[in-house]
Amino acid sequence: MPEAEAPPAEATAEPTPTPEPTETTKAASEDVITFQIGDMEGHALIDGGFTMPVADSPFAAAQPVEEISAALEEADLPGDTMSLSLHPMLMKTPDGTLLFDTGTGGPPAGSLMTSLEAADVAPEDVTHIFISHSHFDHVGGLAKDGALVFPNATIHMSAPEWEFMQANEQQAAIVSAISDRVETFEPGAELIPGLLTAVETQGHTPGHSSYRVTSGEESLLYIGDTMHHFVISVEHPGWKIAFDTDEPAARAKRQALLAELAESGESIYAYHFPFPGVGHIETAGDSFVYIED
Ligand SMILES: [Zn+2]
Repeated sequence: MPEAEAPPAEATAEPTPTPEPTETTKAASEDVITFQIGDMEGHALIDGGFTMPVADSPFAAAQPVEEISAALEEADLPGDTMSLSLHPMLMKTPDGTLLFDTGTGGPPAGSLMTSLEAADVAPEDVTHIFISHSHFDHVGGLAKDGALVFPNATIHMSAPEWEFMQANEQQAAIVSAISDRVETFEPGAELIPGLLTAVETQGHTPGHSSYRVTSGEESLLYIGDTMHHFVISVEHPGWKIAFDTDEPAARAKRQALLAELAESGESIYAYHFPFPGVGHIETAGDSFVYIED
């Protein structure tokens, strides 16, 4: 079992303005990395990871494998396989304990509960869950054997995403377990005044939402699955990905978001980038690059 996490560092009195890089600290457990947004504490919680042959990756459906491999090798990564991490985000705030997405809930990943314990949080402590979208690697951890995993949490997702999820027969068991606890919001709504706003990023799914956490002068954008791979999605944002429901919309959204992030220097939290996925975007030539903070 991982050891309990070290006590939180003292909150900074004066929040530094964006784009100061977000500080990250490794906790006692390798499964939890702690970072500050203004005077709030965030945790990246590992749920697991996927490694797949490039030929089986969602990019290979539309892009020649050789081009994908070449792009990976150019970034000093193996050219034959592709790895995606899965790490939900936890924020301890004056308004409650917030969890963003919930991992797979079981194989091939599913170690969120161990990571949560290492962050000194019990499932009962989670008050709000914010879902980026309803794919299994984000909602699988919401219910187990028909019962809620986080019994006291309100589950927030955008109205179009809840509609999309309810229409998906593969998600019927989770839908029936959570339906009493779901609260929907309109895309782009302010969710916790001054602290949390939804950012409309549909395309990957019909109601996909990103989330902006603000504390003092600092903010961080939880980007969900607007981007999947830290090299391919960022440096080649025009390449198609098979998981996108509305591929042209997802591609346009990804490109616009990258331009916006490179301009603002705002910190991002990327669920599938290498753990902990906290960094920022910069322009590089006529494209972009992800810089880990
Ligand atoms: Zn995903």
